[in-house]
Parts: sequence; structure tokens; C-alpha cells
Amino acid sequence: MGGQADHSDTGKESLCDVLVIGGGPAGSTIAALLAEKGHRVTLLEKDRHPRFHIGESLLPANLPLFDRLGVRAQIEAIGLTKRGAEFVSPWHDHHQSFEFADAWDKSLPFAFQVRRSEFDRILIDNAQRKGAQVVQGCRVRKVDLAASRGPRIEAEHEDGRRQSWRSSYLVDASGRDTFLGNRLRIKHRNRKHNSSAVYAHFRGARRNEGKKEGHITIFWFAHGWFWFIPLTDGATSVGMVTWPQYMKTRSGSLREFLLDNIAQCSELAKRLEEAELVTDVEATGNFSYACDHSHGRNYLLLGDAYAFIDPVFSSGVMLAMNSAFAGATAIDISLRNPKQAVGALAEFDRLMKHGPKVFSWFIYRVTNPTLRNMFMAPRNFLRVKEAVLSVLAGDIFGKTPIWGSIRIFKAVYYISALINPSSSIRAWRRRKKNILYVEDQLEVEGR
Ligand SMILES: Cc1cc2nc3c(=O)[nH]c(=O)nc-3n(C[C@H](O)[C@H](O)[C@H](O)COP(=O)(O)OP(=O)(O)OC[C@H]3O[C@@H](n4cnc5c(N)ncnc54)[C@H](O)[C@@H]3O)c2cc1C
Repeated sequence: MGGQADHSDTGKESLCDVLVIGGGPAGSTIAALLAEKGHRVTLLEKDRHPRFHIGESLLPANLPLFDRLGVRAQIEAIGLTKRGAEFVSPWHDHHQSFEFADAWDKSLPFAFQVRRSEFDRILIDNAQRKGAQVVQGCRVRKVDLAASRGPRIEAEHEDGRRQSWRSSYLVDASGRDTFLGNRLRIKHRNRKHNSSAVYAHFRGARRNEGKKEGHITIFWFAHGWFWFIPLTDGATSVGMVTWPQYMKTRSGSLREFLLDNIAQCSELAKRLEEAELVTDVEATGNFSYACDHSHGRNYLLLGDAYAFIDPVFSSGVMLAMNSAFAGATAIDISLRNPKQAVGALAEFDRLMKHGPKVFSWFIYRVTNPTLRNMFMAPRNFLRVKEAVLSVLAGDIFGKTPIWGSIRIFKAVYYISALINPSSSIRAWRRRKKNILYVEDQLEVEGR
């Protein structure tokens, strides 16, 4: 460990304590935290910020993390206040809104909707300000984890120059590129879930009014669901999440496919009646996966580089940042006191598994009629509504007392499913077919 800006260079190889691949929310967060603790951190980002990224709706549980990083005021300045979520179902005659203020812990009443280009830039600038060496336009190409003096990393700058680093620790925060997951062959598709998304920005969409203006709206429709995320500058992010099998039925362009499906979802179509598509339409497929393990002797995986399931509850950025906090603690302990490394990494691993596990129960069932009915008619007996809202707020780490009520919610779900066996079996069969793997044929159009 050394001083903050002391990034030694041996001529052939640059040296650092921790090398981070990727400057998204996970990478920038861990780089800031470790640099603050006095470690020499180098972060390599293949793109240049500001750059587009999907994932614009944040959770209340992000806010304490912003406070700990010292960036809350900056995020607040670029974000639209999100006080809750609205669910709209063609099988129900009302819209159902939830406010985070009604969750178990009343101290986390809102989050933000953000443009990721601005949000990610704030986080990477913060990492640099805290003393991390940030190199943008530099793509990691190769790593050798078995090298005798710690991981050896080879990267390529935009101008074609190659550069090597030697570090004590390597952090993979490369997002859905899953740099180490692919190279170590430890990444596996999620057999319990599978979905694809098509998305774009609109201008002139009709928003909710008053305190609900910043709500995310989820519109269920026959082939999955849509998100509607209002942004602060008047744009609205709209995305369709559907089964890869359904994506395969597309014959025209992505733009036509998105617009045709919006037309099939009448409540969303009404909100977009006067709206204009202002970006290219982009798509991503088969994004549900996890890696076999979260760490090895001198490396760990964060955020999407470890696992991603589905965006329905807007949990990705919060889980990525939370994994960075857990990873920073584990690496700091391991570097300062190697004897405690095993325990620190076991705790890191526990936290990495906890988030996806909690959200996956809800994600796997979100298009199931039983869960949909429960969401559309929420009751707060034995505080189940408050507990579920706490999950939706991302308040699932630390000592939260919600778990008894969550178990009751799940029991009610299973009992309701048993009471309607034919509908449940139909839904189970449909889902089994829907999540089948389909060769990823999506191409990114534009951008
Ligand atoms: C369709 C869709 C909608 C979503 N909506 C939401 C949402 O509303 N809310 C939410 O919270 N989450 C959402 N997510 C998830 C969210 O986008 C991610 O969970 C989040 O961005 C993960 O952060 P990360 O830092 O792990 O990875 P990323 O944000 O992907 O950052 C990884 C970084 O690594 C860089 N990189 C990759 N490979 C290399 C390399 N070899 N060398 C150098 N740099 C590299 C990339 O350029 C990138 O900047 C959504 C995801 C999808 C697919």
C-alpha cells in the first residue's frame, strides 16, 4: 500500500495495489473507496464518459451509498425525484401505486431517475478526485491471474498503444461484458429466467402529475412488460422486456417492433400518444446469468460482472454499488491483514449472493397472475406490504426486520396459487416455454 497518487512504473509494467476493470457504478465506487483508504488504485475504462448506458431508475437504498461516497448533492442535481412505482395491468381495472414512504423503514422515502451518462460520470470523477488513477479509452485485453507477483493485466489504449500493469488485487467490474466470467469460463446462463429488452427515449410522453411525476410505471402486457421512466430533462425512457422467443418473431426493424408492441399495450400507448421517439432503438438479449463464484485468491467480481437477472425492480445499480462497498471492505482487510482474508471474502460472498437471491423470487414470478393479483390488491396485514416495499426500495442488507413478513407474503402467494390450480399450472407451463434459451440474434441498432 502506498500514497494516493503513487502509481509506480517499472518501465515495462505499471504497479498498483488494486486494478479495476470498468468504470460503471461498481468499478467507480470501489475505486473511490479503496483510494480513500490509501491504496494505489488504477481504474481502466474502455469507453469515455459521458457515454450512454441503460439502467436509469435508482432505488432509495442507493441514497445512503451516495452519502458515504459524498456525491448525493451532485446526483440530486441531475435526478428526478422518484417517490414510488405504479403498476398498470390490462387484466385489472385500476392502476396501483406504491410509495417508498410506506415501506417498513420510513427514512428512505425516495430515489432518483437519472441519465446514466451523467450519473456514471459523477461516480468516475469522484473516484479520480479520491485519488484513483482513472484511465479512459483503455480496454483490458488479457489478464494472467497465476503470475507469480500478483495479477498481470494487459490493456489497449484507443490509439492502439498497449500497456501492462501488475497489481496485488484485480477487480472485475466490467458489467455485462463479464470479462473474467468469460475468460475463466465460470459464467452460466440462468436456467430459471430469461428475457430480452428493446428500449429508446421519447419526448412529450404524458407523465403522472404531482408527487407521482417521478414514479416508474410498469405496464404488463401479453408478452411481458414495459418500463416508463421519466427523466429530468423531459425525456422518458421506455423499454419492453419480453421473452427471447418473442423477440424472434420480429420481422422488421427494432424501431417497428418496439412501436408495434407499444400499440398493443393500450395504457402505455395513451401515455405516448403525443410523444416523439428521439433516439435510436436499442436491444439486448439473454441477459440473465451468474458466475459460479464471486472471488478467487487475488481477484473478485462485482455488480453485473458477477450476476444479472432482470431489470424489473430497478435493482442493478444498487446491487452493483453495494457489491463495491462489500468488495472494498474485503480487499482492504485482505491487503492489510492477509490472515483475515478468508473470513472477509466469505462475508463478501454472502453479500454478493444475498441481493440476487432476494430479488429473484419476485422477478421469477412477476408475470405470474397470482403475484400480479397480489401486487394489484396489496394488503398490509402483519406488515407484509411494508416489507415488500422495503424489498422494492432495496432495503435488504443489514439488520432489517422485514423477513418474517416476507415469509408470510410468500406463504399467501403459494396458498393462492394452490387455490387456483388450473390457472397456476397454465402459468407454470407458459413460463417454462418462455424461458427456453434462444440463440441471441439481437443486434444493436444505432448509438
Ligand atoms: C434492459 C436493462 C434495463 C435496466 N434498467 C435498470 C434500471 O432501471 N435500474 C437499475 O438499477 N439497473 C438497471 N439495469 C441494470 C444496470 O444497467 C446494471 O445492473 C448496472 O449498470 C451494473 O453496473 P456495473 O458497474 O456492474 O456495470 P456497468 O454499468 O455495465 O459498467 C461496466 C463498465 O465496464 C466497462 N468495461 C467493460 N469491459 C471492459 C474492458 N475489457 N476494459 C475496460 N472497461 C470495460 C464498460 O464500458 C462499462 O463502463 C438494467 C439492465 C438492462 C439490461
